[in-house]
Amino acid sequence: MTDASSTPAMPVTIHRGDYRPPEWLIPDIALDFALGIDATRVAAALSVVRHADAPVPLVLRGDGLTPAAVRVDGEVWNGWRMDGSDLIVDLGDRTAATVEVDTVVDPASNTQLSGLYASNSMLCTQCEAEGFRRITFHPDRPDVLSRYKVRMQGDKAKFPILLSNGNCVAQGEQGSDHWALWEDPWPKPSYLFALVAGDLVVNRDSFTTMSGRKVALGIWVRDGDLDRTGHAMQALKDSMKWDEEVYGREYDLDLFNIVAVSDFNMGAMENKGLNIFNTRYILADPDTATDMDYDGVEGVVAHEYFHNWSGNRVTCRDWFQLSLKEGFTVFRDQNFSADMGSPAVKRIEDVRLLRAAQFPEDAGPLAHPIRPDSYQEISNFYTATVYNKGAEIIRMMATMVGPERFRKGTDLYFDRHDGEAATCEDFVRAIEDGAGVDLTQFRRWYEQAGTPRLSLSLVDDGGQWALDVQQTVPPTPGQPDKQPMMMPLKLAAFAMDGSGAAMPEMLVTLTDATQRVALGAFAARPALSINRGFSAPVIVDYARAPGELAWLAANDDDPFARYEALQQLMLDTLVAAVSGGTPDHSVVIDAVAGTLAGRQTDPAFVAEAVLLPSEAFIGDQMVTVDPDAIRRERLALQAAIGAALEREWRAILSGAAPPATDLSRAAKGGRRLRGVALAYLAATGRDDVPALAFRIFSDADGMTERQAALATLAHGDSDERVASLDIFYQRYRDNPLVLDKWFQVQAWSLRADTVHAVKELAQHPDFTLANPNRVRALYGALTGNQAAFHQADGAGYRLIADLVIALDPKNPQTAARMIPPLGRWKRFDEGRQRLMRAELERILAQPGLSRDVTEQASKSLLG
Ligand code: ZN
Repeated sequence: MTDASSTPAMPVTIHRGDYRPPEWLIPDIALDFALGIDATRVAAALSVVRHADAPVPLVLRGDGLTPAAVRVDGEVWNGWRMDGSDLIVDLGDRTAATVEVDTVVDPASNTQLSGLYASNSMLCTQCEAEGFRRITFHPDRPDVLSRYKVRMQGDKAKFPILLSNGNCVAQGEQGSDHWALWEDPWPKPSYLFALVAGDLVVNRDSFTTMSGRKVALGIWVRDGDLDRTGHAMQALKDSMKWDEEVYGREYDLDLFNIVAVSDFNMGAMENKGLNIFNTRYILADPDTATDMDYDGVEGVVAHEYFHNWSGNRVTCRDWFQLSLKEGFTVFRDQNFSADMGSPAVKRIEDVRLLRAAQFPEDAGPLAHPIRPDSYQEISNFYTATVYNKGAEIIRMMATMVGPERFRKGTDLYFDRHDGEAATCEDFVRAIEDGAGVDLTQFRRWYEQAGTPRLSLSLVDDGGQWALDVQQTVPPTPGQPDKQPMMMPLKLAAFAMDGSGAAMPEMLVTLTDATQRVALGAFAARPALSINRGFSAPVIVDYARAPGELAWLAANDDDPFARYEALQQLMLDTLVAAVSGGTPDHSVVIDAVAGTLAGRQTDPAFVAEAVLLPSEAFIGDQMVTVDPDAIRRERLALQAAIGAALEREWRAILSGAAPPATDLSRAAKGGRRLRGVALAYLAATGRDDVPALAFRIFSDADGMTERQAALATLAHGDSDERVASLDIFYQRYRDNPLVLDKWFQVQAWSLRADTVHAVKELAQHPDFTLANPNRVRALYGALTGNQAAFHQADGAGYRLIADLVIALDPKNPQTAARMIPPLGRWKRFDEGRQRLMRAELERILAQPGLSRDVTEQASKSLLG
């Protein structure tokens, strides 16, 4: 098998409207693996049953495979041919048959990390979306569900542990080999198949389900990593309990295994009964993981566990329905994390991510609805839109009907579609029927791309106040004209005059392009709290005086709305400054001071609220992004706040940090606030800051404090910067996940030479293109560093294009994920536009480009 043979020359576009039911079903599959690192023999036996009315050949998709033998009902069969990389088996007028195909794959040279591959001498699989066809010939579409029996055999010493989906029903020895037979009783699509073979150790535990069944839990890692699996195990048990309590969903096998692997294209994968994880979402201890890393572990463990119902028991009919499982499952993991920690802080983080990753996608050349209409390479559609906007669309339905009725809807959905491959339409209909609501217009959220904008104006009708809401949805590629969307808008109004008069929170359902909402009687213009809790994923245009925003930041009764008000105040100030105005920092400083006063009660919220908006988000507010001016003005405001409230920041830092082993909400919040305080203090440029940061770095008993101090030092040019980076490297050079942080903080640096530094770091002996985490740590951090990536001479663009070109032949999925930042060219000045387009063109001129990169680069160039 060569990887080059798996990349077609001409990209084919797949259209949602072309869906046809499968012509053959495969109720049962038996797979037999003779395991080897550079040659694994796969013998597949498919029990096929014709689903089409008339005779049709059986089309089995392949990717880089050659059939070594084909048999039908036990006889050697000559009635087959290759059609490109697919295997066509002529079964005459048979309505059922057993089709056996033998293949050989080479896991060691599978650098794409899709199909069966080797990672640290362990064998593992990744089949979503279309990786199963890189293991054996198969229809490899999610609406073909089978019961799997998997036998695997291999060298006992090399592969002491043999795992697959379901239950291990038999095992034995054969000379220096051993074998295991696994059976999964639940029919599943091929993308949920998994196999792991390697030298692993296990953290075992158990969970007793609501009906009293005991489930054996196992988290499998490399020797030496066992003592970093405790948090993941706790998260797994919490998730199992939460899904029973909140959704009534019980686990359905006697065994649940998780395996952590170092080389992984995404976060994790929900294979039935055998989740496979990127190590970064399993391994955590206070010395090596930050509080944010801990939260990432908890959220991703929950996400993959929740897929057992939203994804596995009810799966997707085709890949256009991806948001059916991903949007819903993200919504579920968000609510789980909110329940485990602070709902307000979790909502702030989720909205920040949506604005940072999804809004730009929706505003650019790669914009697509949460249910796309076409694709060339489905891997390119595992996007913030499908995942995170998808979750917001589910959230809006839940908001409109309330929790009890929403639960009735999801109960009906699971009940109605259990064991089926369903569609987004099925989900919406189940909510309509179960919750008793008409979602006809709401369905537009599945069809229309682009972030809606609400323009608001407050009208005074003789003391009776009302809000005029005008809704527009911007044009996106292929969708020039849009219809208004249905959405829930939560709002409240307050009198700022001290009278206490208020209109309590109300939920308005918007449906029209223009709509008037009555607010009630106020003696003077009220302060408006709008889109509370971010009830709809929209951009609100509503000009408010700084005083009104400051009042809301201090007095709104909804913490999310207080956060939004302070952010808006900061944003308005920064945008005015970047556009050449003379900024008045004092209102912001007073508002930050006021918020800081609440730091004893909720330090986590305060830390989030006083953070300045990111450079990228400031850029998103501008017609033409000026990365240098944005950096300058943001640093200026940070320095002003840093200096004005210097005593506060120093007070926060003067106390002892909570012990790193304390993972309570209060302790995590305390550490977060200390990180923010250090950044504000550093912005002042006071002479003692490097020494102070270095002391925090050296005294730190855990990674949260250590990384925050290191990141602060990395921005400057002190001796302490050099020393701390060196100490950190020496201490953690053998821990890949921590070494990623060492690369990352340097690529995040605000220093003027960061692009050059990244270029040098790519030559570091510890840098490798073979590990996606390492690639993201260095290059992903650079694209998130706006002023560096957009350096006016185009050096940042060149670096990313060079990476894409070098990485594409090895790992097209990960290479393609680096392209979207280059596609934002329309938002920049002409010089940068030209440089960005030139790099996209240079990528496209490469011969033998993958379908993944071709699609992303060509669409990005169109603009
Ligand atoms: Zn998922």
